[in-house]
Amino acid sequence: MRSESKRLYVGEVAIGDGAPISIQTMTNTDSKDYESTLKQISELESVGAELIRISLPDEESVKVFKKLKTKTSTPLIADIHFRAEIAVLAIEAGADKIRINPGNIGGKDQVSKVAAAAAKRNIPIRIGVNAGSISDDLRDQDIPLSKQLTLSALECIDVMEKVGFNDIIVSAKAFGVQDTIETYRALSKSIDYPLHIGITESGTLESGSVRSSVGLGILLSEGIGDTLRVSLSADPVHEVHVAKQILQSLEIRKFHPELIACPTCSRCEVDLIPIARQVEKELKNISDPLKVAVMGCSVNGPGEARLADIGIAAGRGKGVLFIKGKPVKTVDEADFVDELLKLIERDE
Ligand code: SF4
Repeated sequence: MRSESKRLYVGEVAIGDGAPISIQTMTNTDSKDYESTLKQISELESVGAELIRISLPDEESVKVFKKLKTKTSTPLIADIHFRAEIAVLAIEAGADKIRINPGNIGGKDQVSKVAAAAAKRNIPIRIGVNAGSISDDLRDQDIPLSKQLTLSALECIDVMEKVGFNDIIVSAKAFGVQDTIETYRALSKSIDYPLHIGITESGTLESGSVRSSVGLGILLSEGIGDTLRVSLSADPVHEVHVAKQILQSLEIRKFHPELIACPTCSRCEVDLIPIARQVEKELKNISDPLKVAVMGCSVNGPGEARLADIGIAAGRGKGVLFIKGKPVKTVDEADFVDELLKLIERDE
């Protein structure tokens, strides 16, 4: 059961109130470099990023942002720290949402300026609090980090509400998975603004994917979260892939066929792991949400993968293609992937 929240729009993408949980990521090119940022935006779009955030530190990057806005239909989010005037320029340049931390944008007058500009263009603002930006007052209190983060987010919301702005999306992230979970649980009970969830600075591709999957998986399974970003020290294309896998694993959204692959054991008579990898790569180009199995032996394979729609069970130099656990054709090892894909395409 999803937590109830207000519905907001970032460009055409709905967030909150039961809208599909959207996938966002962030460019990591120099945002003053038009060509490389545009190239990265198109790569991110091609793998399924639904919202793309760009950090804008200065006027020059806002000029580039304005040009980028004319080149993509994917909503672009401007990420601004410290300088309210840059946030206002980014809004005027066409940002579909801005992310600020009211704690570092320069007090109530500055927040008020940013909110007025956002209200004029009818775009939401994300209040993005994280463990590194908690005020000294809160940090000095002898309370758990999750409580500090929650209070910090509530203080920021209060600042925005006091200037009359309510189109707010909220995030409050920490590196600690438990800290993050407790923070979002508390926020989901006390506010009805949409929640952007994520584990901040979660690590490299492997460790960050695991931390994010654990943290976001728990939150999503409790119905918490309206949009998400997986933050990885890696090419942001991976952030989109991992986010999709998290949502698909929980059966919240379906993007591609799912691969069931046996872990292999001494019964396996082919080099199965590269075959499974190759099939997984090919499946990313297919949108039908089938379950596809690649199993290492024909004795146990079809039975173990009986929940699969389509699969292959390898034997010595040969493999048996099966549909819903029933064998349909024997193929040579060299043709495993092609024959499996042909069967999938026929089913599409
Ligand atoms: S499907 Fe066969 S090879 Fe794979 S783990 Fe099971 S028994 Fe072993």
